[in-house]
Amino acid sequence: MIVEIKHIVYLLASVSFIMGLKMLSNPKTARNGNLLAAAGMIGAIIAAIFFHKGEVSSLIYWLIFGAIALGTIVGWVTAKKVQMTKMPELVSLFNGMGGACAALIGLVEFHHYVGDATSMSVILAGMVIGSVSFSGSMIAWAKLNGTLRNAIRLPKYNILNTIILVGLFIYAAYIVYTGTANELHIYTLFAAAILYGILFVIPIGGADMPVVISLLNSFTGLAAAFGGFLYGNQVMLTGGILVGSAGTLLTLVMCKAMNRPLFNVIFGAFGETEAAGGGGPQGNVKEVGPSDLAVQMNYSKKILIVPGYGLAVAQAQHVIKELEQILEERGVEVAYAIHPVAGRMPGHMNVLLAESNVDYDKLKEMEDVNPEFPQTDIVLVVGANDVVNPAAKTDPTSPIYGMPILEVENAKNVVVNKRSMNAGYAGIQNELFFRDKTNMLFGDAKKVLTDLVSELKALD
Ligand code: NDP
Repeated sequence: MIVEIKHIVYLLASVSFIMGLKMLSNPKTARNGNLLAAAGMIGAIIAAIFFHKGEVSSLIYWLIFGAIALGTIVGWVTAKKVQMTKMPELVSLFNGMGGACAALIGLVEFHHYVGDATSMSVILAGMVIGSVSFSGSMIAWAKLNGTLRNAIRLPKYNILNTIILVGLFIYAAYIVYTGTANELHIYTLFAAAILYGILFVIPIGGADMPVVISLLNSFTGLAAAFGGFLYGNQVMLTGGILVGSAGTLLTLVMCKAMNRPLFNVIFGAFGETEAAGGGGPQGNVKEVGPSDLAVQMNYSKKILIVPGYGLAVAQAQHVIKELEQILEERGVEVAYAIHPVAGRMPGHMNVLLAESNVDYDKLKEMEDVNPEFPQTDIVLVVGANDVVNPAAKTDPTSPIYGMPILEVENAKNVVVNKRSMNAGYAGIQNELFFRDKTNMLFGDAKKVLTDLVSELKALD
């Protein structure tokens, strides 16, 4: 009976994961989708602990609940405190923990399955993938927070990494084939997989790090799925497969949005060497102040706002909503043009603007909004740079060449808010800033937009 209940709970949990994932695809349902999947996961954990067949000592229960309590406190506090712009770092850290768990399953279970080639293959696959995901995620986390920004790339690192990867496969096959019970082998394989994870992520450029995190996320899912297969635990298997496939899809979607093949992400080094330069077009720029801009905006019919990473840095999402409201009260049509990789994580701008209750219908995707720019009186670019850089279309030597961009240069007037002439994430200058119809509105986004709102109010 207990086993049946457990399987029913597992089934319900699996359904909740699938439905939750589906709900995540729409901002209106995303929050509830997250809660639904989390509830399913809690149910699955409870069922796994309490509907377990066979005797379990009380010490084990104490250890399990101690670990759950510790993990909950650390996870809760970190997630509550984290700034939105630091989210990729947090995801990387949490993902690394998932990989470590999958790797530990391999280390703990190894000696139970010596001689059973199928189970051994599953254990080693889960352990190797989990270890790579763990150490790779830790390196990604350190790169994102700046600790490892200038890590040295070994010479011929691509060849070296490929040799280690092939070596890992051969060594794992050897362990399975010989059916050895010598634990030294499994620990050596574990250490080699950890080393591979480090060497795999170190050469990858900073700008590609969120893509790599998504890829490592899919590795963790795969490793967990191997664990589920080993234990015959359907919910772990389903959860692992869902994370694995969702992570893979997200990786591919991000690559497509940046027009960079995955191969290029893994074997290139975009965002490190190129980012250092910051070269590109130079010349004179025209400036506009909040009071002049307020007058222009007051008499506009249609304004599009392009949010970027700087909006998140300045935490100007509330004041931008205020600007939108005041303009609409004056009869101006206002909408937001959202680039799929604006900011530092997928959906970054959507999440940010949702915080200030911007209507979802006002968020327009790149393909839909690009034809609207020629009929737009003013495009207000707030803290965005790479995603509006025309060099992506015109300059084959540019590191972002080929990336689809928001074609703001087609609007009647372009106003760009940023603090200085510094480059964006790709490290290149933006010729848009030097064009005739562009005016720069220098300053921190929150401060400048607050001034703009005051000026607009004063025009009453
Ligand atoms: P960028 O990083 O290109 O530019 C942001 C601009 O914001 C900077 O030029 C900076 O200029 C300005 N800025 C910073 N702080 C402030 C502030 N407080 N107030 C006003 N302006 C500010 O951002 P985009 O959003 O245009 O592009 C995102 C980049 O990240 C792309 O290159 C994309 O490929 C990359 N990327 C995105 C991922 C994603 O999933 N979203 C994943 C991987 C990479 P200044 O210092 O002069 O103020």
